[in-house]
Amino acid sequence: MNLNKREREMGEEGSTGRVTCSILSIDHTNMFYRVCAVCERTISDPTFVCHPSNPPSKRLFRILMSVATDTQVLTVVCFDRVARLLFGCSADEFFHFAKLHPFSGVTVNEILEGEIFTITLSKPVNANAQHLRVASAVPLSSAFRPAIHLLKQCYETPHHS
Ligand SMILES: [Zn+2]
Repeated sequence: MNLNKREREMGEEGSTGRVTCSILSIDHTNMFYRVCAVCERTISDPTFVCHPSNPPSKRLFRILMSVATDTQVLTVVCFDRVARLLFGCSADEFFHFAKLHPFSGVTVNEILEGEIFTITLSKPVNANAQHLRVASAVPLSSAFRPAIHLLKQCYETPHHS
């Protein structure tokens, strides 16, 4: 993928560019990472303890998605703050919902596919990171509803007997 043009458009300091794009797909197989619930330090080793009190860890969203602008297809990464706007819930809440409803990931993909957003992209803080990150996302449609609402409609409709 050639990002050079986009990078030039974003200027030397490489902060942000604003684009309108539609979501093509999200990688629903790998959407979370764990952090310490107290200091939010990333926990890559599950046995790692960063405080003597051994506080619980929690999940945050980290979602890879492909988006299409009018000129190109980009793979971007969406962290917790922005992902919460798309999903309408916390990463832990979604994880537990998806455990009860195993097709939630696939369904979220279908729900978000084709949704159009104005997004702000920023270069990764970490120079080793490969993907531009979504710094903000504003849905174009005022009818947009976060994915969890539709999921709950799909899966939690009361049964009539
Ligand atoms: Zn900690």
